[in-house]
Amino acid sequence: MYYKGIADKKDMVEIKCRIIPKPTSGTRPVYRKKSDNMNEPVLKGNSTGNVQYICGNCGSVLVHNIAQGEISVDIIFQCPNCNAYNEVEYH
Ligand SMILES: [Zn+2]
Repeated sequence: MYYKGIADKKDMVEIKCRIIPKPTSGTRPVYRKKSDNMNEPVLKGNSTGNVQYICGNCGSVLVHNIAQGEISVDIIFQCPNCNAYNEVEYH
């Protein structure tokens, strides 16, 4: 838990993504990280979002400051750290 104990981030919700096999090319949008900076998430939402999605395999942050439900469930995030394919799961 990255924000445990940090007062101004107390409402941050961390959600672990589900690992899926490599999708067939062109069937679903895959987001990959463009920069080499490991501290940058794959995608950043607006500042009012309080959800962050983490890799279901290694725990790296994939999406930061996004509102729950803002991301389409079709979108797949490829982890910049372990290259696993992550699917957003809604509960
Ligand atoms: Zn990972």
